[in-house]
Amino acid sequence: MNDVADNTNAAGRPMFDKVALIGLGLIGSSLAQVMRRENLAGHIAGATRSESTLRRAEELGLCDSYHLDAAEAVKDADLVFLNVPVGAMGPVAERIAPSLKPGAILTDVGSVKGSVIRDVSPHVPEGVHFIPGHPIAGTEHSGPDAGFAELFENRWCILTPLKGTDEEALNRLTAFWKATGAHVDTMPAEHHDLVLGITSHLPHLIAYNIVATAADLEEVTESEVIKYSAGGFRDFTRLAASDPVMWRDVFLNNREAVLELLGRFMEDLSALQRAIRWGEGEKLHELFKRSRRIRREIIEAGQDTAAPGFGRR
Ligand code: NAP
Repeated sequence: MNDVADNTNAAGRPMFDKVALIGLGLIGSSLAQVMRRENLAGHIAGATRSESTLRRAEELGLCDSYHLDAAEAVKDADLVFLNVPVGAMGPVAERIAPSLKPGAILTDVGSVKGSVIRDVSPHVPEGVHFIPGHPIAGTEHSGPDAGFAELFENRWCILTPLKGTDEEALNRLTAFWKATGAHVDTMPAEHHDLVLGITSHLPHLIAYNIVATAADLEEVTESEVIKYSAGGFRDFTRLAASDPVMWRDVFLNNREAVLELLGRFMEDLSALQRAIRWGEGEKLHELFKRSRRIRREIIEAGQDTAAPGFGRR
């Protein structure tokens, strides 16, 4: 956690005078809460498309002003976050573009970067610094109630700056993410989409698929699948419970990387199938040993708990 005083500027004011959050779901709500805790914004303007979400955000006291029109929220903002599904980034950027303040930083939190750059860039006015980003932090819950200030603590945030990005703007956005408790990396968008393809998108696809397969089995009833899920199945269901709109958009927008990785995955799965068919125990043992090592390294890197069953009691 950061000392509040660390995040004020020389004049003793918060890091940014006004921050606009477009989208107030899990990520938008978490950003609002950590900004409050760390004194990162003089004014937080929140916008969402539905009245019900806006009302809930207001009840939770997430922001200082509440808007159904995103263009109104971004007026005079120094930092603007797009926290909407990847497929909605382009239309939202188009809507807010004429109201963006010259010199403002425009960023996003979308899980795919190539498509967001493709869809948002054409709308970014001259003098506005567009720096795409993606915090590698989340849960299977969505909406404003799902947010919490600690979401980004000790997680990585990847920024994918475009050629010619203003260095000062990049430094300011990096400082913002660090103040949330995150570590920051930068990389090209294409590489981000491949890395996240294997670490996030493919695991979710496999989880969605295994849950569908289990639900469709005729010989095993759904109630048996649920009753005996502690055998391993339930660990997939956490991923498969993630927001359907968000994940539909991820697969539609990271198509090339996911298809490439899926091809590799299916080849490896066939090799496993073959090893099982031919009783090649040594091959299976070797592969399982390697997987265990990777799990250990994730724990050593502080990206998961060593407690059995992910810390479940
Ligand atoms: P969420 O909890 O479902 O919230 C989505 C927000 O976007 C809501 O304010 C919603 O408004 C708004 N929205 C939905 N569809 C829209 C549309 N077509 N046009 C305009 N606004 C729309 O989602 P989230 O988990 O915060 O995800 C937001 C972004 O963060 C996504 O791009 C996702 O890829 C990325 N991300 C998610 C995670 C994660 O684990 N969830 C992690 C890292 C990054 P209403 O509620 O008013 O309809």
